[in-house]
Amino acid sequence: MADTFTPQPTKCPECGAEFYRDAAWKRICLPCYLAKKRARNPNARGDICEALYAERARRRKAERDLGAAQTRVLLLEVELHNARRQTGIEPQMLKRLIQLCHPDRHGGSRAAQTATDWLLRQRDREPCHS
Ligand SMILES: [Zn+2]
Repeated sequence: MADTFTPQPTKCPECGAEFYRDAAWKRICLPCYLAKKRARNPNARGDICEALYAERARRRKAERDLGAAQTRVLLLEVELHNARRQTGIEPQMLKRLIQLCHPDRHGGSRAAQTATDWLLRQRDREPCHS
C-alpha cells in the first residue's frame, strides 16, 4: 500500500549500497536502476538524463525541506527554553512571596515548606538579568 510507505535510508538489494528510498517504487539505488535501464536499452540516454535530473531535483527539495525543518526545530527549542525560564511572576513579587511563605513565619508548617520550595525553584529558573 503506497499510503503506508515511509521514506527512509534503505540498503540496495542489488549492490548493498545505502540509498535514500523516497518513493515506494524505488526498490534499488539510482546507479543500479540506471545500469539496469542501460542494459535493457543502450540507446536510452535521454531517459537516464531525465531520471538523473528528476532525482537531483527531488534531492534538492528534500535538502530544502530538511533545512526548513531544522530551522523550525531551532526556533522551537529557543521558544521552549524561554518558556521554561518564565514563571510569569515578577522577580520582586517572587522575593516578597518567598518571604511571606517562609516556614519560620508559619510555625514550620508543611504547606509553607512546600510552597517555599516551589517558589525557590521558580526563582532559580528565572533568566539572569545582567
Ligand atoms: Zn544498488
